[in-house]
Amino acid sequence: MNEIRIERSTALKQKPDPSTLEFGKVYTDHMFLLDYSSEQGWHDPRIVPYGPLTLDPAAMVFHYGQAVFEGLKAFRTKDNRILMFRPDKNAERLNVSNERLSIPQLDESAVIEYIKALVSVDRDWVPTLEGTSLYIRPFIFATEPCLGVRAAKQYVFAVIMSPVGAYYKEGIHPVKINVESQYVRAVRGGTGFAKTAGNYASGIKAQEEAKHDGYAQVLWLDGKEHKYIEEVGSMNIFFKIGGEIVTPALNGSILAGVTRNSVIRLLNDWGLPVTEKTISIEEIHQASAEGKLEEAFGTGTAAVISPVGQLHWQEHTMTINGGETGEIARKLYETITGIQNGTLPDSYGWNVVVAE
Ligand SMILES: *Cc1c(COP(=O)(O)O)cnc(C)c1O
Repeated sequence: MNEIRIERSTALKQKPDPSTLEFGKVYTDHMFLLDYSSEQGWHDPRIVPYGPLTLDPAAMVFHYGQAVFEGLKAFRTKDNRILMFRPDKNAERLNVSNERLSIPQLDESAVIEYIKALVSVDRDWVPTLEGTSLYIRPFIFATEPCLGVRAAKQYVFAVIMSPVGAYYKEGIHPVKINVESQYVRAVRGGTGFAKTAGNYASGIKAQEEAKHDGYAQVLWLDGKEHKYIEEVGSMNIFFKIGGEIVTPALNGSILAGVTRNSVIRLLNDWGLPVTEKTISIEEIHQASAEGKLEEAFGTGTAAVISPVGQLHWQEHTMTINGGETGEIARKLYETITGIQNGTLPDSYGWNVVVAE
C-alpha cells in the first residue's frame, strides 16, 4: 500500500445541527481518491478537500455504466471512540462487485485503511446524538475516455462521507410494501449480486410508482417466473412463519447484505436458526391467510431493521403482526444498533476502532 497523501481543506464547513440531519444531503470536508490505470495499477491514494470531480465527457461510466459502490457507517461511542461496523465485509463485497463488472480488484486491507484514514481526518463529523452516524460511501467508476464497448483501462476509487440522522426519529416502526408484479430488478446470470449502479437505475421506476401509491418500498420477485421473493428495495428480507425464520437463499440475483449476514449469525446464536431457501410469494400469502405469517422485516445498513407491517400483492393485502413491530425485529434492531454504538459488548468482534 502506498502512502496516503493528505491535502487538508482550508475552508472547513459549518457542521449541521444533528437533530435535523437527513440521509445523504451533506458531506464532510474531505474525500478519498485513488486512481487506476492499466500501466500503473491502483496508485496515488490521497485525501483531498471534498469537491466536484472533472471527468471527460467520454468517460466510459457515463456510457456503459461500469460503476460499483458500498455503504457502511461509523459511530461515535459515549466514551468518544469511533467505530466502524464490519468494514471487512464491505471491502470483500466491493471486490465481488468489481469482479462481476470487470473492474480491477483492490487490496481489501488497503481499502479498510483508506476508509479509516478518511474517517480519522473528518472525525469531528461523526455525530454524537443517539441514532446518528457517519454514512460512508465508497464507489468506483470507469474514467477512461472511450466510446468502444469493453472494460475500461482507467478507474477512480472514491470515498465520500455524510453525517446521517436517526433513521427512526420516533422509534422503530413498520412500513407498507408493494410486491412488484411487472418490473424485475435482476435475473440469474445478471448483476443482482453485485452492488452496481445499474441495478438501481433499472429499479427506480418501480420504486417511484410504489411511492406514488403510498408504499415505502418495492418487494422484488424473481426475474424469470415472478414467483419467488428476492429482496426489498435496498434491503434483504426475512419472514417468521409458524415459528420458523426464513430468508431467500443467495442465488446470484440477490445482494449479500452485511446486515443479513449479521442477523443470521445473531438469530442462530439465539437458538432461532434461519432457513435460507427459495420462498414463493404464494407461500407467504398462504401463511398470511392461515394466520402463520408472524413477522416480516427488511435488513440493510441504512435502517438496520425495517419491520414490514403490510404487504400488498396484486389484489391481496397482508397485514403482519397487526401492523406492529415484531418482537424479533425489535430485538435484532436493539442488539445490532447497541453493538454498533458501543452500548452493548461486541462479542463477535464486528467493530473496527478508528480512533481512541
Ligand atoms: C446494499 C444493499 C442491501 C443491504 O446490504 P447491507 O450490506 O446490509 O447494507 C440489500 N440489497 C441491495 C440491493 C443493496 O444494494
